[in-house]
This record gives sequence, C-alpha cells and structure tokens, in this order.
Amino acid sequence: MLEKNKIYEAEIVDYTSEGQGVAKIDGCAVFIPNAIFGEICRVRIEKAAKTWASGKIVELLQKSPHRVGRACPVAKLCGGCSFQHMDYEEESRLKAERVRSCLNRMGGESLDTVPILAAPTCEGYRNKAQYPVSSRKGKAYAGFFRAGTHDVVENTRCLILPQEMDMVKDLVIDYVNQFRVTVYDETAHKGLLRHIYVRRGAVSEQVLVCLVVNGRRLPHVPELVERLKTVPGFTSLVLSVNEKPGNTILGDEFITLYGPGYIEDTLCGLQFRLSPRSFYQVNHHQAQRLYEAAITQAQITEKDLVLDLYCGVGTITLAMAKAAGKVIGVEVIPQAVQDAKENAVRNGIENAEFFCGDAGQAALELEAKGIRPDVVVVDPPRKGLNADTIEALHRMSPRRIVYVSCDPATLARDVALLKERGYTLKNAQAADLFPRCAHVESIVCLVSQP
Ligand code: SAH
Repeated sequence: MLEKNKIYEAEIVDYTSEGQGVAKIDGCAVFIPNAIFGEICRVRIEKAAKTWASGKIVELLQKSPHRVGRACPVAKLCGGCSFQHMDYEEESRLKAERVRSCLNRMGGESLDTVPILAAPTCEGYRNKAQYPVSSRKGKAYAGFFRAGTHDVVENTRCLILPQEMDMVKDLVIDYVNQFRVTVYDETAHKGLLRHIYVRRGAVSEQVLVCLVVNGRRLPHVPELVERLKTVPGFTSLVLSVNEKPGNTILGDEFITLYGPGYIEDTLCGLQFRLSPRSFYQVNHHQAQRLYEAAITQAQITEKDLVLDLYCGVGTITLAMAKAAGKVIGVEVIPQAVQDAKENAVRNGIENAEFFCGDAGQAALELEAKGIRPDVVVVDPPRKGLNADTIEALHRMSPRRIVYVSCDPATLARDVALLKERGYTLKNAQAADLFPRCAHVESIVCLVSQP
C-alpha cells in the first residue's frame, strides 16, 4: 500500500473514464487529475487504499508535447471540462482509445483501432446549458458545479457555450438581484430559483429560457421578459416546477410564461420541435455526423421495418423514415413522444409511428404482436440496455442492430450479451460530441449470423 502524503515518481500510462491520468506505482493504480499520457511526474498521494490511490502532481519531470495552457480561467475548479490542459489531438486519441479498449476488454473484440469522428471545433458548440444558481452574502450568482461537489464555480464566459447563453445567465442573475428573488438552498430546501436552463437551436438560433424553481410562481415576469428580449433569438420563457429535494434538475411540470414554450431546429434536413423536457443532442454538427453514420450502418432498404428504441423527439427515426418502408419509435418521456409525433407531421412523414413507454417492455409487446423489424436502432442512456431489451432483440432477431451509445463500458457489456445471442460486431466508431469534456459517444453495428 502506498503511503499517504508521501511523494512518488510516476509515469502516466493510461486514463480513467473521467479523463484522469493513471500511473502504476508498486503494482497500485494511482489516479492523477490533469496528467497526460507519457508524462513523468512527482505525485503526492492524497488517498491510499490497497489496490488504488489518488494523488496530485507536485512537479512535472517530463512534460507531454500535448500539454497546453488552459484557455478557461476556471478550468481547474469547474467540473465541466476535463481536458483544457491538453491539445485536441490527444483528447480525440484518448477518446477513440477508450472505446477500443472497452470493446476489447468487455466486448470480447480484438480491434486494433477504432476511428473517431473528431469535432471540427471545441468552442461554442453546446446548444444547451444548465447553470446551477447559488448566493453569497445575499448576492446571487451562477456557474457550474465544482467536480464532485455542489459548490457553484462562478464563470463570466464559458468557452464551450455560445455567447447568447452566458448573456441569458447574466440577465437572469441581474433580475434576481434587483428584484430580490430568493435563491434555492439545498440544505434548508428553501428559496425559489434552482437552475437557469437555456436551449438554443444551432440552425434556427431560437433561444428558450427555462427557470427551474422550487415553487410555482415568479415575481416581475414582464420585467424579466423585457430583459430577455435583448438576447438575439429569444423566443420562450418557461418555468419548470421542481419542489423535490435531490439532484434531478428539471421538475415534471412546465408552465409557459412567454412564447410557445418550445423551440424549433433543423437537423439532417428535417424540422424538429423541442420541448424543454425532450432530449436533444447538445452538439448539433457532430450529432448530424453521428446520425449519418447510423444511417450508413443501418443499410436500410425501402421495404424495411425499422424500430428505433430510446428515440427522443424522433431524430434518428425520422432521418431513417425516407429510406425505410416503415419506422417505429419508442420513448419513455411523454413530452418527447408528443414532439416526435408533431415532428413527423411537420416534415410530412407518414410512415412513422411513435409509442410512449419503456423500451424493453414496448419491444417485448411489439414482439408478442408479431412485429419483426429488419433493423433496430438503440440509443439508450448511460446505463445501457436492460434485460427486457436484450431479450426482445434476441426474439425479434433483426438483420442489423445499430447501437448508439454514450457510455462505451455499458456498450461493450451489451455487445458481449448480443454476441452470445448470435450477433457479430461489424463496425465500431467513436464520435466526439463533447469536446473538452470526458464523455465520448460511440456507434457500432451488429449483424445476425445466418
Ligand atoms: N435517439 C435520440 C435520443 C437519445 S437519448 C436522439 O439521438 O436524439 C436517450 C433517450 O432515451 C432519451 O430521450 C430518454 O428520455 C430515453 N429513455 C430513457 N430511458 C428509457 C426507457 N427505459 N425506455 C425508453 N426510452 C428511454
């Protein structure tokens, strides 16, 4: 076991899923933030367990050529970005490597490389921001949580967001301070404003502001709306009622205070309506490339029945509708299903059907009714597929399964389960939808063996 507070020399040989450097000292894995592969450093051990430890760099003995100065002044504190200290070449390499190593270790593959759809820009790419609000000496401020805590790190300008979002945040904070709107205190479960949530259409440039409140009313709404009208593209102000303690950001009820209560955007040549509660990929450009890859891998023919599980507002479903005989989307959030149905209508797509429900249960029900899709697309949240979904896929035995994933570890686990059920991995690709942040998206295709 390593000794706490003692300084050791170490070489960075890997990264964790959160993007921390990993060194091996006396057989023990040591996790070191802000370290880059190949670097040699002196590390002070802060926590020591039997098989692992964590520590901080006290001196860099050999610097990586990929090390760069942080463009963001609060990057070290803020829990948002993990890779401000390295160039994008190293970041995209490590993301592709993470997908490859998960598929090899847990998915039973032996891939030499996995290509990555690297992002053309690391700045201003997000179309969604969720700022937690806090207060100090009676003054409200907003920013992002410090990694692993609920302390809000204030930031004047977040580089991965478009300027309009920070403008909204600043206007809302001014309004809160002027009209003495109370700020939510987690410990006491008191106070009104919890989060400022902003969504902006990358193509439409429409801006929706959603304030998450521990209550049902907001004072001085006309004054707030007047201010927000100075933001280019501002179209809607919505309240999200969240009176429950806990970490979930959005509440279940939405009250529209101004405008239609949703925004529109164009993706893959289609028009989409997006309610605040509906999922929509945060990186528009890269999402389009990811969906194009999904369409290519699906190899749909005009007679095919396509089932899109975890379909959100129907982005992939509707993008595939043109090429297919029929498409069916399944999604658990009712507002997203309403959006998806509305999106089919606004794009004049008549061969799409949407169901609200749990993906696994809905798929089992469809299977019991004799539905046999030729291609199934799955795009689950981080936890991956549940046992029902795997079982339904097995029974339906589609020709191809296109799996879009936001967690390579659960993807690899599910790939192994599908391989046990007669599928072979045909194609694996990583996609960077979150430059500067640790998450990586991936897409694989599994084909059934004859
Ligand atoms: N394919 C869509 C959405 C992917 S995100 C797109 O790219 O835009 C994953 C989606 O799965 C979210 O919309 C989420 O609401 C939905 N979801 C989460 N759990 C689910 C479940 N058990 N059954 C069906 N959908 C679920």
